[in-house]
Amino acid sequence: MKTLESARSEVLSSVGLLGSEQVPIWEARGRILAGDVVAPENVPPFANSAMDGFAVRAADVASPGSILEVLGDLPAGAMTDVEVGPGQALKIMTGAPIPKGADTVVRVEDTATDGAKVVVETAVEPGASIRPAGGDVVRDQLVFEKGTRLTPMHVGVLATIGVGHPEVFKRPLVAFMSTGDELAPPETAQLDPGGIRDSNRPMLKALLEEAGAELIDLGVVPDDPDVLRGALDRGSTADFLVSTGGVSMGDYDVTKLVLENDARVGFWKIAIQPAKPFAFGRVGSALFFGLPGNPVSVLVSFEQFLRPALLKAQGARAILRPQMVAVAGEDLETDPQKTVFVRVVVDGLSDGVPGVMRSGGQSSNVLSAAAAADAFAVVPRGVATIEKGDPVTIEMFKWPESRGWVDGR
Ligand code: AMP
Ligand code: MG
Repeated sequence: MKTLESARSEVLSSVGLLGSEQVPIWEARGRILAGDVVAPENVPPFANSAMDGFAVRAADVASPGSILEVLGDLPAGAMTDVEVGPGQALKIMTGAPIPKGADTVVRVEDTATDGAKVVVETAVEPGASIRPAGGDVVRDQLVFEKGTRLTPMHVGVLATIGVGHPEVFKRPLVAFMSTGDELAPPETAQLDPGGIRDSNRPMLKALLEEAGAELIDLGVVPDDPDVLRGALDRGSTADFLVSTGGVSMGDYDVTKLVLENDARVGFWKIAIQPAKPFAFGRVGSALFFGLPGNPVSVLVSFEQFLRPALLKAQGARAILRPQMVAVAGEDLETDPQKTVFVRVVVDGLSDGVPGVMRSGGQSSNVLSAAAAADAFAVVPRGVATIEKGDPVTIEMFKWPESRGWVDGR
């Protein structure tokens, strides 16, 4: 059996980098930067007011009660040639450029107006309520590194510096299918005896989309070698070709039947649980991933092998989920021969460390417990039991929702 680490490094060493393209900023979320982004200008571009108030000279407002002559007002988006002299103020709105002569803004809350005069009721620090030019981003600064996966916030920052068409790596084209005579479309209302709904393919589609893939859906393929050959052929020109099912030891494991004599495809047993059987290699020009059939195994092998491969192809700097230390809220007994991915919820803090409990049944067909989980507790080979209260490594694949430590219960 291969270890998790050796299997993953073998997979990743076969993954090449895709080319790059420019995309409109409106479609850049989730894309990965193909080059460093350097700021062509300051953000903000000019010193401006942080508050609605009055632009003044600091010396005039060093003590409370000063009365200043109001020269006019300045909304955001406007410029003025008016210079604020001693004893004078210009009414200013949030975001409007600081006029000449002024070096401080008094908040409107700290003033009272009296005709053409304003009374400043408090003493104000020099430079108060001014956002300096370059206070957010300085011109020529490295803003984001190559390999950054763009979140909505990155998209916003790119907009502030005028990068309307960021250079990003191309999305991998992924053809995917599920195999099995027992599978009915998810929309099926009444199943035939012995049938089940195809849950892998909709889940896989969603996982692939989240990992940035462009998709070719090859549908459900029955356990028929000729039909499978046709489907593999249709996916063979994609960047990645993914199937589920048919890679283990059963008589009808048709993926194995069709590909096991192909020298370019390996049928592996990986020392992990779930997701021990796994096929990997090349079909045509596509990198082929033969995932197991059980839905939780699909999730685990996607997370451990396919997702990192997709992110590597897209040039991402971070291709693995971060690992964190949690504390076991109950005994976790696992197979010491394997790296075991226990599906857990992250719930509550114990001495400042998140606690984890199994999210439900741990059989590889129990997808509902994987859906309820936030993380895998990763129990390494050589460990048979993690005892309640012991530290355990977790990989969060989903942020916990309304269960305690997020909303501070
Ligand atoms: P296999 O490796 O093809 O024998 O599949 C292992 C188990 O996973 C069997 O119980 C299958 O019925 C189940 N399975 C395979 N493909 C799917 C699928 N697309 N959706 C749900 N369950 C599946
Ligand atoms: Mg099958």
